[in-house]
Amino acid sequence: MKTIIIDMDDVLADASARILEIFNELNETSVDKNFFNERDFYEFINSNGHKPYRPQLFEPGFFGNLKVMPDAQEVVKELSEKHKVYVVSAATEFPNSLREKYDWMAEHFPFISWKNFMLCGDKSIVKGDVMIDDHEKNLKTFQGETLLFDAMHNKLLTGYHRVYNWQEIHKYFFN
Ligand SMILES: [Mg+2]
Repeated sequence: MKTIIIDMDDVLADASARILEIFNELNETSVDKNFFNERDFYEFINSNGHKPYRPQLFEPGFFGNLKVMPDAQEVVKELSEKHKVYVVSAATEFPNSLREKYDWMAEHFPFISWKNFMLCGDKSIVKGDVMIDDHEKNLKTFQGETLLFDAMHNKLLTGYHRVYNWQEIHKYFFN
């Protein structure tokens, strides 16, 4: 039995899809995820006088309405029956997100107990056997196995075991 630490945004919840929608609305563009396959996301977003999407993350409603990543519910449920699964989200930067994230988890992942759900600030204090996250800042301090969940803002990052979807995570644990 392993202790598995699972991130929320861009791992369980498709934050990137909503971020792109907001970016495109603000800038009257029609950029899609694949646009960032070989281009640095943050560099592009912060260039050319683009209107920033980030203030929207602080607005009520952003985190509460995100779509669930394909197959995440089924795979996390199966993992939670065999392993100790903790969902850990660096959320306190966005105070409005706290209630929304709690409600979102209760709606979409009701089998994850409140005891296994942590809303925190800095993940470097988190311990476990495996961490699944889309941000290097969280993976690089983790003292265990790390899985980098593919996202439009980490395409150029190397040196991590990259997984593209929840089917692959299922294979990683159940093969
Ligand atoms: Mg994330």
